[in-house]
Amino acid sequence: MDAKEVNLSKEFVDKISPGTTKLKLPIAGVKRIIAVSSAKGGVGKSTISVNLAIALKKLKYTVGILDADIFGPSIPKMLGISEKPKSEDGKNLIPITKFGIQCMSIGFLVDQDTAMIWRGPMVSSAIRTFTSNVLWKDVDYLVVDLPPGTGDALMTFSQQIQIDGVVIISTPQEIALLDANRGIKMFQKLNVNILGIVENMSSFTSDDGTEHFIFGKDGAKNLSKNLHIDLLGTIPIEIGLREGADHGEPYTEFFEDSVAGKEIINIAKKISEKIK
Ligand code: ADP
Repeated sequence: MDAKEVNLSKEFVDKISPGTTKLKLPIAGVKRIIAVSSAKGGVGKSTISVNLAIALKKLKYTVGILDADIFGPSIPKMLGISEKPKSEDGKNLIPITKFGIQCMSIGFLVDQDTAMIWRGPMVSSAIRTFTSNVLWKDVDYLVVDLPPGTGDALMTFSQQIQIDGVVIISTPQEIALLDANRGIKMFQKLNVNILGIVENMSSFTSDDGTEHFIFGKDGAKNLSKNLHIDLLGTIPIEIGLREGADHGEPYTEFFEDSVAGKEIINIAKKISEKIK
């Protein structure tokens, strides 16, 4: 389902998630919630979520990461987590701490093949249960990796949880930007504070030092200008970012002085200044 097809009226949202237009809930143990979203899949939303979490930790904040991407949870793999979370009371889950970051993923709880065929209300209900039963500990910033697109799961989350701001990820490619534009409009309709756009895969520098603009140039910059939304940063294609994600070794943890590492830390600084 996408934002064009649905009527984002109070009645509609109440129908998919009863009562939620009335009340947005904070998450216990969490001071600030930063959501990371992309209207299109495969643009690097999860990679940036993980590296942003690491960057915020390097800025001395206590950080949590919530993988709410019900259709393709990948954060545990990107952090090299293979164990499942435990519960002491049989009700609340204890996040798994890795690289000093508290992590919880909907993938720990929901079988992915089953989740793929769930209808909207089931997705909404899973997210609701999931977000209210995690024992976060003194988290300054909770980075939430939202599901891609503009569907029910995303709307439920935006409607129910007190998000302090959302970061939109896009590549400079025209088709990705069209989707990003749609996503931004949806968040604006839902009254979610948009922190800015991060352009990922903005360019690739080959061994001879030439910069190649594989997905086009300045796309996100122009979109941010047109929509009067901040461009928080531009992250190049670096092989290490991909390798780090595949091997569960987040790039910014080990290579904070790389071009991408520095840029991600800069983005984290901007975000922490915007929502203190
Ligand atoms: P999404 O969460 O938007 O679906 P992912 O974070 O899973 O996207 O990224 C898609 C693929 O691109 C992954 O293999 C990831 O490692 C890779 N990737 C993302 N950003 C970069 C980058 N800047 N440089 C190199 N590889 C990247």
